Amino acid sequence: MTADIIDGKAFAAGLRARMAAAVPDFVARAGRKPGLAVVLVGEDPASQVYVRSKGKMTVEVGMASFEHKLDAGVPEEQLLALVRELNADRQVDGILVQLPLPKHMDEAAVIAAIDPDKDVDGFHVVNAGRLAVGAEGFVPCTPLGCLMLLKDRLGDLAGLNAVVIGRSNIVGKPMAQLLLRESCTVTIAHSRTQNLDAVVKSADIVVAAVGRPEMVKADWIKPGATVIDVGINRVPGTEPGKTKLVGDVAYEEAAEVAGAITPVPGGVGPMTIAVLLRNTLVAAYRREGLPPPELA
Ligand code: NAD
Repeated sequence: MTADIIDGKAFAAGLRARMAAAVPDFVARAGRKPGLAVVLVGEDPASQVYVRSKGKMTVEVGMASFEHKLDAGVPEEQLLALVRELNADRQVDGILVQLPLPKHMDEAAVIAAIDPDKDVDGFHVVNAGRLAVGAEGFVPCTPLGCLMLLKDRLGDLAGLNAVVIGRSNIVGKPMAQLLLRESCTVTIAHSRTQNLDAVVKSADIVVAAVGRPEMVKADWIKPGATVIDVGINRVPGTEPGKTKLVGDVAYEEAAEVAGAITPVPGGVGPMTIAVLLRNTLVAAYRREGLPPPELA
């Protein structure tokens, strides 16, 4: 193993600590806590776990957490009415509707109903547009977390070759926009890319966001490159009946070639909620007309 391990768990803990230190300043100036509303529709077990840990961490940094649970069968209009209510609620700075939604609901319509200035997930088309043109808005949490790890490791990213594998709206595309904003030369690879191994080999920075276990092999990686593995894949473990999590990168072998690499778990994963809280605090400052603090 030659690569340095990029410890996202420790970075996320540091970010949350900086937020906990900043929240009292906001409370003193605004006379209220920053507030995050999370809406969960239905009982998807993974979403329930995720929403619980969001609520816990929101409170731990000193912010207010508002949880709204709706039955899986509610009509879409009821969810839209709740979103409109949260848009109008002065105590709510950030609104997150947990995805996926039940099949009878139109996710795009629900996201479009969120006030873009409270869209701390950064999924609203207005925020996607703001990111594309370089305006102030909200950036999706996972790619922003990846960028924070990259800047922490590499400092100035200008001129580096970056390859993003995956073109989803929540990870791949905003990741590419962020790297472009940092003046990287960016290639977006996807399921139809030819000679993916050779494309990846040109990269100083590789961000893998595919959802295919250990797809990126050591001999795809340029020696010394920085590798960010967004993938979360559950695969059979070594013991019968047990499972384990692996990323999109063949970690053990890639760590022999890369200069630095994020592990799975403990790399990108912990960054997502920390950045969500960061976006909520920034939303709170902006909504009060105050300059947000530098957090990362
Ligand atoms: P997605 O399914 O929406 O997109 C996957 C992308 O991979 C697509 O753009 C597709 O073109 C590309 N792709 C598929 N097969 C490919 C191949 N053989 N070669 C090259 N590209 C290929 O997935 P997503 O939502 O972007 O998530 C990607 C991964 O990241 C998943 O494992 C997901 O669980 C994980 N994820 C983690 C976090 C986190 O750490 N908090 C957050 C979001 C997503």
